[in-house]
Amino acid sequence: MTDTPNTTYTFQAEIQQLLHILVHSLYTERDIFLRELISNASDALNRMQFEMLTQENILDPDAELAIHIAADKDAKTLTITDTGVGLNREEMIHNLGTIAQSGAAQFLRRMADQAADKVPATDLIGQFGVGFYSVFMVAEKVTVTSRSFRPDDTAWAWTSDGGTTYTIEPAEQETRGTTITVYLTEEAGEFLDPFRLRNIIKKHSDFIAFPITLDGEIANQQTAIWRRPAREVEADDYAAFYRQLTLDFNDPLVHLHVVADAPVQFYSVLFIPEKADRGLFSLRTDHGLKLYARKVLIQEYNKDFLPNYLRFVDGVVDSEDLPLNVARESIQATRAIKRIGVSLKGKLLGELERIAEEEPERYAAFWDEFGGFLKEGIATESGDAARLAKLLRFHSSVSDGKTPTVTLDDYVARMKDDQEHIYYILASDLVSVRHSPHLDSFRALDYEVLILPDTVDSFMLINLTEYEGRSLRNVDDASLDLPDAPDAETDGEDTPVPLDEKTFDRVRARFVDVLGQRVTEVRESHMLKAHPVRLVAPEGEADRNMQRVRRMIEQDYAVPRRILEINRRHPIIHDLAAWLADDSGAPVINQVVEQLYDSALLLDGLHPNPADMVGRIQSLMEQAIRRGE
Ligand code: ADP
Ligand code: MG
Repeated sequence: MTDTPNTTYTFQAEIQQLLHILVHSLYTERDIFLRELISNASDALNRMQFEMLTQENILDPDAELAIHIAADKDAKTLTITDTGVGLNREEMIHNLGTIAQSGAAQFLRRMADQAADKVPATDLIGQFGVGFYSVFMVAEKVTVTSRSFRPDDTAWAWTSDGGTTYTIEPAEQETRGTTITVYLTEEAGEFLDPFRLRNIIKKHSDFIAFPITLDGEIANQQTAIWRRPAREVEADDYAAFYRQLTLDFNDPLVHLHVVADAPVQFYSVLFIPEKADRGLFSLRTDHGLKLYARKVLIQEYNKDFLPNYLRFVDGVVDSEDLPLNVARESIQATRAIKRIGVSLKGKLLGELERIAEEEPERYAAFWDEFGGFLKEGIATESGDAARLAKLLRFHSSVSDGKTPTVTLDDYVARMKDDQEHIYYILASDLVSVRHSPHLDSFRALDYEVLILPDTVDSFMLINLTEYEGRSLRNVDDASLDLPDAPDAETDGEDTPVPLDEKTFDRVRARFVDVLGQRVTEVRESHMLKAHPVRLVAPEGEADRNMQRVRRMIEQDYAVPRRILEINRRHPIIHDLAAWLADDSGAPVINQVVEQLYDSALLLDGLHPNPADMVGRIQSLMEQAIRRGE
C-alpha cells in the first residue's frame, strides 16, 4: 500500500485481482451485492450493541440501531446507511484496502484452483458473496462515508471506481455510522426499482435482526424466529431462516425449535444440514452456535453448548439468563451454558431417536452423512455412548445395499440360541470383506457378523465393548471359541479328510520355516471351512483396538505379527503336503506358502503393498501351466 500525499492509496494486489474479475465479468446473481452490504451493516450494528455494554463514551448513544436504504432514480445511486460502529481513517485503510479472512480471500484461493475444476468464476461469485467488493459488480463508483462511534474520531470518505486505487478524504458527518453510496452502472438500473429491491431484501435479508427501511418503509420481518411460538412457525420459515443463516442452498435435513423456562430460560433453533460438508459457499466458516444474550449477539460460534461430535449442528441460542459479558467467562455463565447444553443435546438426540423410529428413510439420509460423527461420539463421550449405540447403523453379513441398516437391537434379536457374543469384522471395503476367511465358521453356524468399514470404527470400539450385556468380539480374535459347525461348504463327495498328524506337522514346519518372525505361531484352525489359511490376532480385543488406532495416528504401516491358522482339510494344503512328500525342494512350495500368507494379509486389509505379489503370482501361473501340459 503506497501512501501518496494526495490521499490516493493502492489496493493490495489480491484485491486488485478480485476487483478486476468483478468489474470485467457478467453475472447472473448480481443482486447478492445488497445482501453483502446489509450483512456488513448488521455486523456493524451488532458490534455497536456490544460496545454499548462496555463503553461509557459513545457518539450518539441514543441513535436507533437500524439500516436505511434509499434509491435515487435521478442520481442513479443507491445508499445504504447504518448506525453501527463506523470506520475511522485507519480502519478504512485496513478493512477496505486489504483482505482479511473474509469470503474474498477464500474466493481468490478458489480461483487459483479453478483451472483444475473448471468452475467459471462468474458462477462462483453469484453464489459466494466476496463481501464488500461484490458491490463492484453493479457500481461504477462507490463512496463509503463513515464516522466511528469513538467520540474523538472524525468523519472520512473512502472512494473507489474499482480500479487499482482508492482515495480517502475528510468528510462532513455529525452522526455515528456508515453510508455506502453506490453509483450504479448503466446496466444495473434494475436496482433502483423499489419493488425489485424489496424482493431482494425479502429473499436474502429477511431475518436480519435490525429494522431495514427502504425509502422509509420497513422491508424485513425482523422478529427473531426463535422467539416466536413454535406452533406459529412453518417448516418453510425455518428453512428460509436456515438458508439465510448458512447460505446453504438446500433445506436443512432437521430443524428443532427448543424453548425452555426452567431451570434456565432460553430460546433455540437448531439445524442439521443435508450435507456434512459445510461447503465452500457457506456463510458459516466455523462450527458452533450463534449465541445471543438478551437479543444481543455475543458470539458467532459458541462451542460450549454441544459436545464436539455434534459440531455438524448449526443454529442459534438466545437466553435472558446469561450475563451480557458472558465472553468474559463468569462461573454463573458457564453453569447456565452447561444446563442449556444438556437440554439441547437431550432434545437433539431425542429427535434423532424419533426420526430413526418413525422415518427410517430420512434417518438413513442422516446416517449416510453424519453416522461417522455419532461413532466419534461413542469414542469421545463415554457418557453418551449407551444412548448413541442405539442410533448406530451397520452393514452385516446378512444385510445388503449401500446404506447400512442393521441396529444392535436387530442383531441381538436375530442371535442364535447358542450364540454368546456380538461378532464384528473390520473391513477395508464392503466387497472384499465378504470373501474373508474369518467368516467361514460364522457362515456355517449361520451367525450374523457386523461389518465395520470405517476408520472411525476402531476408535468407536474402544468404548463400545458390549451391548445389553453381550460383548462385542472381533472375528479374527485368536481366543474365540465357537461351537462346532457342520462343514457345510466343503462337505460332499470329494471333501478331503483332514491331513493326518504327521503329514500336517510337516506342512506346519514348512510354514514356520518360510514365514519365520513374520508370524508368532503356526497352528491348526478349528474355524476355517472354505479357506486354506487365516491370520488371527494373539492380543486381547481392547489392546488391539488401541493398537489399531495408534497405527492410524502414527501412520505406522508395519505389518502386525499374527498367528497363522491352517485348514487341515483344504485341497491346497493337501496338494502342498503331497508335494512335500514327493519333492520337498521344489521352489513352488515356498512360493505357495508365501502367497497364502500374502493373500491372508490382503483379505485382512493388512498388506502394505499388494503389487509386490504380482511377480510371484506370475511365476506360480507359469508353473501351473507347465504342470498341465
Ligand atoms: P467481512 O464482512 O467478511 O469481514 P467484507 O468484505 O464484507 O468482509 O467487509 C470488510 C470489512 O469492512 C468488514 O470486516 C468491516 O470491518 C468493514 N465494513 C464494511 N462495511 C461496514 C459497515 N457498514 N460498517 C462498519 N464497517 C464496515
Ligand atoms: Mg461482509
